[in-house]
Amino acid sequence: MLDLDFHPSGRHFLQIPGPSPVPDRILRAMSLPTIDHRGPEFGALGRKVLADVKKVFKTRHPVVIYPASGTGAWEAALVNTLSSGDHVLMVETGHFAALWIKLAKRLGLSTEVLAASGQDALLPEAPHWRQGVKPELIEARLRRDPEKKIKAVCVVHNETSTGALSDIAAVRKAIDVAGHPALLLVDSISGLACADLRHDEWGIDVTIGGSQKGLMMPPGIGFNALSPRAIEASKTAKLPRAFWAWDEIVAMNVDGYWPSTPNTNLLYALNESLDMLLGEGLDNVFARHDRWAAGVRTAVDAWQLPIQCADPSCHSPVLTGVMTPAGVDADAIRRLIHERFDLSLGTGLGKVKGRMFRIGHLGDSNDLTLLAALAGCEMGLKLAGVRLAASGVQAAMEHFASHAAPSVIARAA
Ligand code: PLP
Repeated sequence: MLDLDFHPSGRHFLQIPGPSPVPDRILRAMSLPTIDHRGPEFGALGRKVLADVKKVFKTRHPVVIYPASGTGAWEAALVNTLSSGDHVLMVETGHFAALWIKLAKRLGLSTEVLAASGQDALLPEAPHWRQGVKPELIEARLRRDPEKKIKAVCVVHNETSTGALSDIAAVRKAIDVAGHPALLLVDSISGLACADLRHDEWGIDVTIGGSQKGLMMPPGIGFNALSPRAIEASKTAKLPRAFWAWDEIVAMNVDGYWPSTPNTNLLYALNESLDMLLGEGLDNVFARHDRWAAGVRTAVDAWQLPIQCADPSCHSPVLTGVMTPAGVDADAIRRLIHERFDLSLGTGLGKVKGRMFRIGHLGDSNDLTLLAALAGCEMGLKLAGVRLAASGVQAAMEHFASHAAPSVIARAA
């Protein structure tokens, strides 16, 4: 039975790959009084967050902010750029890519699913769920489309269900080399503000983001970053849209307002998040996540458990998927760890349910919170009878101790 009155002492370890732990600074910013969303104070807030958020997407073009989760922002990207029956090429890298494909089908789009092939002894039924996007497959498919029937290519930047980070610049290049006019739509819901993302430079037409991952905010804001080509496409796209329509929002955003009631307190949070991230410097933010990811992978390697993403060139800076030995239910271990150590880990989703768990290394974290999370994993794995080759906590301690954070080195200099 759920006992809502029971609160374990200390802070809960929210180690899922989003929603991520929210810094106190952001929680405090959110607690400011809600203001008149048509008043002058609000306009100033709106103009500031709309300008600053462009820096995180690395774009000069409009970024649309919705009071919605990432799923809403997925839908917005499709309905603003496409028409019923349009053919779209979507790459299945994992559960979130699969959900986006399902959503596109429900909207009446004709979806073609591209998946990396190959053998995988640990996951023979879904080898593509252990890899990133293969740009060469996209190029080959687009070359076989002389009539340019494919209207958009849809890829997930950081596949949160598996921990695979794909090379979006290479996807752009593949489309260009094939000489194809398809729009490039990128889900960077969990990549944004953890891994480098260059909306303009990489020629992305719509980048989809969410608040609850690298931005370290609670869930509730979805983003569409637009390109001039995407805006042009929206003028002739015929899929029905009203709430999601970019035109009215972009027009009112010029003065810092929205056509409907925006989520004021989440915009306070966004403002604080952007101040924190831009103050730290985006390159430092990315280096911080890379370093945490390397430390966590060191622990998993010491345990000698397989990492879900089998391609080291795609290892995610946001999360690490850990596969459990055959016959060991990863969800039972997650439940045990939650009950005993008040630590939440990400569940295996879809095709990998029960086969793996996910350790998030994003949000309000540091070396010591990550070591504590790894200690919770290690104790839980042992209690569940999983044989570990060596202590992952020890390996991660050595890794963090011998690889000082760049920000620490810079301050000491
Ligand atoms: N895409 C990715 C990569 C995600 O990680 C998520 C959620 O975790 C979604 C889409 C769906 O977003 P939401 O659950 O906020 O609707």
